[in-house]
Amino acid sequence: CFCELKGSINDCSCNVDTVDYFNNNRITPRLKSLLIKDYFRFYKVNLKKDCPFWNDDDSKCAMKFCSVHPCEDKDIPEGLKGQHNVEKPFHKYISETQRNDCNEDLNAELSYLNTSISQQAQLDFEKWANFDELGENFCILDDHEEGAEYVDLLLNPERYTGYRGESAHRIWRSIYLENCFGERKQGKSILTPMNKSPYNGLCMEQRAFYRLISGMHTSINIHLSSNYLQSEPTDFVRPTGIWGRNLNEFNSRFSPEATDNEGPHWLKNLYFIYIIELRALAKAAPYLRKEQYFTGSDEEDMEVRAAVNDLLNIIESFPTHFNETLMFTGGFESLKLKSTFREKFRNISKIMDCVGCDKCRLWGKLQIQGLGTALKILFSGKFDNKVSQTEDENDKFKLRRGEIVALFNAFGRLSNSINELEEFRKIMR
Ligand code: FAD
Repeated sequence: CFCELKGSINDCSCNVDTVDYFNNNRITPRLKSLLIKDYFRFYKVNLKKDCPFWNDDDSKCAMKFCSVHPCEDKDIPEGLKGQHNVEKPFHKYISETQRNDCNEDLNAELSYLNTSISQQAQLDFEKWANFDELGENFCILDDHEEGAEYVDLLLNPERYTGYRGESAHRIWRSIYLENCFGERKQGKSILTPMNKSPYNGLCMEQRAFYRLISGMHTSINIHLSSNYLQSEPTDFVRPTGIWGRNLNEFNSRFSPEATDNEGPHWLKNLYFIYIIELRALAKAAPYLRKEQYFTGSDEEDMEVRAAVNDLLNIIESFPTHFNETLMFTGGFESLKLKSTFREKFRNISKIMDCVGCDKCRLWGKLQIQGLGTALKILFSGKFDNKVSQTEDENDKFKLRRGEIVALFNAFGRLSNSINELEEFRKIMR
């Protein structure tokens, strides 16, 4: 089977089958039970932004499976309501000193600024704003913005939506041609550089950039093949239908015959991005262990902290991740390269606002934000020093809740994709 991948993962010192075994047996089951917890299932995102690059009026997906149902206020856990516009320092502040007030409606964005703790919150917020301006982030974070709403990820699963054609191609083309490294080839078919020799003349960092995007693309296309509409729903208000694996769809996207031999490379890129995100989680583990995972339910929050700790222990036990210290070494040129890398990545996060299908936009944004958070952990320098056991000022401003939620969920997508590959192999055997 072409999806029975063998050998080492390029630029990493581990093999595909080692990752398969480790992921399918130890990571996926843990992630599956963790990601259904309230802290991780409610993701705040702005799906209403206009495309900043082109007029996208005609590219909106009218298919019923493209829609997203934002949460109603009553569905959002109490502890998260107070965090509508607030980041970790405030969230900790609330959880430690104001817990009784959590039942009050802190719903409106500005209301918290009017409370007695407003000065502290305002200061924290300004610090965050300055921090973002420093350009440390690889993504544009929009959970502060007007228009951002909580979405229940379990009610809006990533799956086949029917989004395809020119609108979808324009997004992928724009990402690959304009925002990956390498020259745009005049006169070639618009999709050619996506298929052909993308590595020619690229250095390791530039190759890595392409392979991260390609790996995410692979994961999205695996999910739509494994969660494919098998039979039409009868209820059109909340269409459910029957969903399952579609081997023909999978083959048409990844078999060597259908992809000019590129499919297996694209599948391998999935393992590359997996290893990168795994490494980021391992690197940030001491910091992530100190997070409160506050939702307002003492019992559930405690369970989540224990489950995160257990997952991080397993992640840290994986022997060979990826050595990020080999990247961006070499003085000024490297600094410039890193800055271009970050700018290109930020651009891709903006392109997500051009995705014409809301469901695809939701998961595209989440996965880009998760990957951006992983890159921030690996390359911003913020996580290079050991985390102290006690709370200190420097720890406060490292990651926002939205980044943590995106990081774990994005890794969950990759983990599930690798697991799905195994399921497709079983069907093919
Ligand atoms: P596409 O996947 O559109 O790919 C375009 C071209 O890119 C291919 O012809 C090939 O040359 C090349 N290519 C394909 N895969 C790779 C790879 N892994 N690495 C490098 N090059 C590659 N559809 C859904 O049904 N559900 C979703 O949740 C969903 N989410 C999406 C999220 C985003 C951000 C985008 C841009 C699209 C999403 N789509 C989703 C659409 C889906 O990804 C495809 O674009 C669509 O199904 C059309 O597929 P296609 O066969 O034309 O090739």
